[in-house]
Amino acid sequence: MIIALFSCDTGKKAIITAHPQIVEKPIIKDTKKAKNIIFMVGDGMGITQISSGMYSNDNKLNLERMRTIGLHKCYAYDDLITDSAAGATAFSSGIKTYNGAIGVGPDTLPVQTILEEAELRGMKTGMIATSTIDHATPASFAAHNMYRKNYEEIVLDYLNSGCEILIGGGQKSFDRREMDERNLTKEFVNKGYTVVSHVDKTISEINMTNVEKLLFYTADSSPLPVAQGRDYLKPASELSINHLNKNNDDGFFLLIEGSQIDWGGHANDANMIITEMIDFDNTIGAVLDFAEKDGNTLVIITADHETGGFAIQKGSKMNDLKTEFTSDYHTADLIPVFAFGPGEEDFNGIYENTELYHKMRAAFGWESKKKLD
Ligand code: MG
Ligand code: ZN
Repeated sequence: MIIALFSCDTGKKAIITAHPQIVEKPIIKDTKKAKNIIFMVGDGMGITQISSGMYSNDNKLNLERMRTIGLHKCYAYDDLITDSAAGATAFSSGIKTYNGAIGVGPDTLPVQTILEEAELRGMKTGMIATSTIDHATPASFAAHNMYRKNYEEIVLDYLNSGCEILIGGGQKSFDRREMDERNLTKEFVNKGYTVVSHVDKTISEINMTNVEKLLFYTADSSPLPVAQGRDYLKPASELSINHLNKNNDDGFFLLIEGSQIDWGGHANDANMIITEMIDFDNTIGAVLDFAEKDGNTLVIITADHETGGFAIQKGSKMNDLKTEFTSDYHTADLIPVFAFGPGEEDFNGIYENTELYHKMRAAFGWESKKKLD
């Protein structure tokens, strides 16, 4: 076997094969710190979700522009199958916690998130989702709650988050509350936010000239699937990046979530997975266009978990897939991590989902925190 390898290689390569430690691989250690991080989560986006999007899109995704690829272990504190709350809290805070936990540890006590720390350090921050903005993934970056479905409590935390950008559905948690009589639309305005509803304007009709902070309701409750006409993720991401980057020497942290890839998995709806995956990938293209030009922005793209036990089956052809599901819930698959920009090389390898938090902090050049798990 080794001889066969040698015989189809040059002599020099044969020596390298025999002594892997002397492989002459140029190590370009990029010590430049990331000024900005754009953290993109495709909820429920496992390898098959990515594959199905690519093979339904003429064998092409913008995701292929990413140069560094790793894998994370997505399990929760006490369950090999994570939910989106524990999954996002691992990313935002570097701890494994229980399913349903929003920015709190296994003891239900709040843990500081990377977004909160960015705000404390004088950076700008933002969150965009194609779910409600109080859904588990964004909530875990800017709220602390022992249970993910306490939506009206979660948006109260956003009021003091300092986030410059909040874009997603769930208007009713703000202005038609059941737990109290407060009108959070008014309270956000009093905090300096420009608050806009999808009823009045599309994202591209918003003039950001005199806007300091933006809260944009994309739906009263859950936004539509992209197949039914939702079309804001890419323009909202472009608008947000432009806003956060403008006159900003201190950098920004932006969360962008393609939330509904997961919902396609739960519904065992391959077409929904594929259309949501391609919508997320179109946004990835716009983000990479910015990051490539900017040179100071680290883009991380990953998922909290896979959903559906999704598989592409025999009989499939390019742009015509035959698919099956083994579950209507999340699975424990290793999850891909794609990185582009300053510090990207640190995202190679196989590691715990909590490491993403520590790796992002390191990329910012922040002093390391004691790891809690
Ligand atoms: Mg989510
Ligand atoms: Zn899910």
